[in-house]
Amino acid sequence: MQIYADNAATTRLSDTALNAMLPYLQGEYGNPSSLHSVGQRAQEALTEARARIAARLGCQPTEVIFTSGGSEADNQAIRSAAAFGKLKGKTHIISTAFEHHAVLHTLEALEKEGFTVTLLDVHEDGMVSAQQVEEAITDETCLVTIMYANNEIGTVQPIAEIGEVCRRHGVLFHTDAVQAVGHLPVNVAEQNIDLLSLSAHKFHGPKGIGVLYARRGVPIFPLIHGGAQERNRRGGTENIPAIVGMAAALDEACDHLDEDTAKLTALRERLIAGLSNIPHSVLNGHREHRLPGTVNFCFEGIEGESLLLLLDDKGVYASSGSACTSGSLDPSHVLLAIGRPHEIAHGSLRLSLSPDTTEEEVDYMVEAVTEVVAYLRSISPVWRNLEAGIQEFIIQ
Ligand SMILES: *Cc1c(COP(=O)(O)O)cnc(C)c1O
Repeated sequence: MQIYADNAATTRLSDTALNAMLPYLQGEYGNPSSLHSVGQRAQEALTEARARIAARLGCQPTEVIFTSGGSEADNQAIRSAAAFGKLKGKTHIISTAFEHHAVLHTLEALEKEGFTVTLLDVHEDGMVSAQQVEEAITDETCLVTIMYANNEIGTVQPIAEIGEVCRRHGVLFHTDAVQAVGHLPVNVAEQNIDLLSLSAHKFHGPKGIGVLYARRGVPIFPLIHGGAQERNRRGGTENIPAIVGMAAALDEACDHLDEDTAKLTALRERLIAGLSNIPHSVLNGHREHRLPGTVNFCFEGIEGESLLLLLDDKGVYASSGSACTSGSLDPSHVLLAIGRPHEIAHGSLRLSLSPDTTEEEVDYMVEAVTEVVAYLRSISPVWRNLEAGIQEFIIQ
């Protein structure tokens, strides 16, 4: 069996998205800035895709800016809000310790440029509260940036409440919604969101394309200077095939949201129940406030990298957490942020499902993980010490 269970890292391009893209990869190759009819057809495709995406987000088409993906949208949102804050003498930014690196590293760069950053503690269940945000806001605060759903442990934050607090205090609110869009209901107006990032390849669209939503009136500064594309907010010839594919994938995901959520939630619960039977294991993140398809566990006495390699041999394609940290031996900053000790954080496994996943696949994954964990423990000196009582178990 071959099971792709790394949908939080990226997803398969859907057939609908591919078919929508094909004409623009072939005959319809016009540049939307061209005045002739070939270019104007590309312009029409661009306008239509923008309107469809805006409708799904609950905003106006002019509030949609196409970017190269989630990372660029995060960078541009944060840099724009910071630059706008600075003009008004406000240089304090609030975020959390478990954001994606596209956010955390942008904030680190801004700190070097003189901004002050408060990273809120994340509760051990992987949640941040609106009250924590409110308590951290000062007269200097120009931006709050908090992710909608975490890419490693899958917890979903109270975005509308946090947005309401920010609105009340006159502070801009950005959310990295890359894991949420296409997977959870999103409405920027109802949820008081000023800036939002999304990425097509996380909801079965193509890679290298995303959106920065910026509420009307929030000044956006270009990161890429060039032509007048995206109303001077993002230079460069628009990636029409990818934009059209993203709109098709988003429509498809939103049209099937209810049924996919029900299906994925049932599979997720089956997976959690199966993995919980492994002794000295723990689910990471809140039991209910989580993405329908993301499961993350820590297993005591094993090393995540070995677990992944042996699962790969069994045809199970999983992750230890973030794709961005794999290959490095540092434990996940997300697991450390929710208070998992280093020893435990090293033994993590993320399985992220898609609507294509079947019950049989879930059962096979439970069996495979159970076997591999038992095998790795049987050859682990740490496990021997734990069993002999020389070392104490952290996970009971
Ligand atoms: C994948 C991801 C990103 C980066 O998006 P790209 O389009 O790959 O640049 C940012 N934030 C989160 C939460 C993600 O999961």
